[in-house]
Amino acid sequence: MNNTVLITGASRGIGKAIAELFAENGYNVVINYRSSDIKANELYNKLVRNNRSAMLIKADVAVREQVDEMYAKIKSAYGGVDVLINNAGIAEQKLFTDVSEDDWDNMFDINVKGMFNCTQAVLNDMISNKYGKIINISSIWGLVGASCEVAYASSKAAVIGFTKSLAKELGPSNICVNCIAPGIIDTDMNASLDDNAIKELKEQTPLIRLGSPEDIANLALYLASEKANFITGQIISPNGGFVI
Ligand code: NAD
Repeated sequence: MNNTVLITGASRGIGKAIAELFAENGYNVVINYRSSDIKANELYNKLVRNNRSAMLIKADVAVREQVDEMYAKIKSAYGGVDVLINNAGIAEQKLFTDVSEDDWDNMFDINVKGMFNCTQAVLNDMISNKYGKIINISSIWGLVGASCEVAYASSKAAVIGFTKSLAKELGPSNICVNCIAPGIIDTDMNASLDDNAIKELKEQTPLIRLGSPEDIANLALYLASEKANFITGQIISPNGGFVI
């Protein structure tokens, strides 16, 4: 039977590239999304047209009830998941003094609690199976901090602490928990950056380009594979040399 992967926030950007690559590699792909019905359906239809195995589930990862309902659907279709990719996330640039309590809560509800909700939903079955791979998407800003992104960088630092701690707890159950901390990737998340800002970011990157969603998907596929069975608790940062 095919392995099954759940990718959160998969209607566009990095999540979409991960969904396409895992589908090409024979996984049953569960595409989770929150609001972009059109984009999510386009991706789902494309995969199905190409004879890939896919399932589309609308759910807000920040809402426990919706996450539990999502997992119940996956369980009845595929029996559970072998790989969970906590990719859904939001970013916001603001002076720290302008960050409201709602801004802060919203950032942590999605970027941190969403990961907590999805991981708890899938975990009991992974523990029973004595097998699983959990891949959390952080950011270089979670590693080194970012001015005007205190809330985002703090939430992404939490993803790193979560990864390291859970890896220690789940090692005896043969569940690997790793984290990808991407550099600047060419997705809608960076759509607000102007040409000058993009030019500067490229110049500060030894490989002189932004990353592509596929750069991240390739690493996720490797971490999910049996080739990475001895890798757990690691924070791996594909960033073109931007942060060393
Ligand atoms: P994106 O904005 O294109 O994609 C994020 C996806 O998450 C969107 O599809 C969005 O709808 C979804 N999402 C947001 N809130 C959700 C919720 N509550 N429930 C379900 N889905 C939700 O951005 P991206 O660049 O593809 O980002 C993917 C991940 O990579 C994020 O966690 C982001 O923080 C991280 N990341 C991105 C970059 C970058 O430069 N683009 C760098 C480092 C890390």
